[in-house]
Amino acid sequence: AGVHPNVVFLKNTDLALDKGILVNEYLETNIPDVYAVGDCAQHQNLYPGRRPIEAVWYTGRMTGETVAYNICGRRVEYNPGIWFNSAKFFDIEYQVYGDVPANPADHQQTLYWEHHSGKKSIRVVYDSDSKKVLGFNLMGVRYRQEVCERWLREETGIEEVLQNLGLANFDPEFYEEYEAAVIGLYNRQTGKALPLKKRRGLSAALRFLRRG
Ligand SMILES: Cc1cc2nc3c(=O)[nH]c(=O)nc-3n(C[C@H](O)[C@H](O)[C@H](O)COP(=O)(O)OP(=O)(O)OC[C@H]3O[C@@H](n4cnc5c(N)ncnc54)[C@H](O)[C@@H]3O)c2cc1C
Repeated sequence: AGVHPNVVFLKNTDLALDKGILVNEYLETNIPDVYAVGDCAQHQNLYPGRRPIEAVWYTGRMTGETVAYNICGRRVEYNPGIWFNSAKFFDIEYQVYGDVPANPADHQQTLYWEHHSGKKSIRVVYDSDSKKVLGFNLMGVRYRQEVCERWLREETGIEEVLQNLGLANFDPEFYEEYEAAVIGLYNRQTGKALPLKKRRGLSAALRFLRRG
């Protein structure tokens, strides 16, 4: 996002620096009892598919939580979880969950639906062979992080996701719903006739999230 750690003022200290303050999996620096979290922390442990410095608010919160556990005596390793980010550019809201590369790899297939206004789109990336979902990208439509994360964590298949896509939608009441158009697009592309089983609704989403 164009942000980078401002660590110049630490150059003359004993702290080990690179682009940011170097930390291990417990967010410990090279100096005992000194930790780094948020935008200034640079992970020495490379998490698959992740960057050493992740300057977004939710990783800032998660690194803070991890340090809180550790300084309170519970040894907890940082786990960045499934990549997630959300932002607002002027009037367009944007979210990404999981792996949505600009140039999909050979094994990745992408279902892309766009509203005729050009201001709303839904992209679902999935594995061409196993059909499990790999990522979601939303423009102008709000999808719940917890629901998308669960589908990604459980390696849910694209067809099950599409049939239940309404579980993820948390646009305000009376906003138009586009999940039927998305599954319709998939049906046209694949010659299938999958029904949309779940429309937008909080109760069904909560039941899904409480499921064991
Ligand atoms: C324009 C912009 C848009 C962004 N949009 C998004 C977004 O849409 N989604 C998202 O997830 N993230 C976004 N980010 C990134 C997000 O804001 C940061 O990841 C997050 O704020 C990092 O939190 P932090 O506590 O590590 O650092 P900061 O929020 O930068 O807090 C550091 C604090 O330390 C203070 N400070 C600095 N030096 C000293 C000093 N020597 N002594 C005492 N205090 C000091 C600073 O004043 C500041 O208050 C955006 C960032 C920018 C700049």
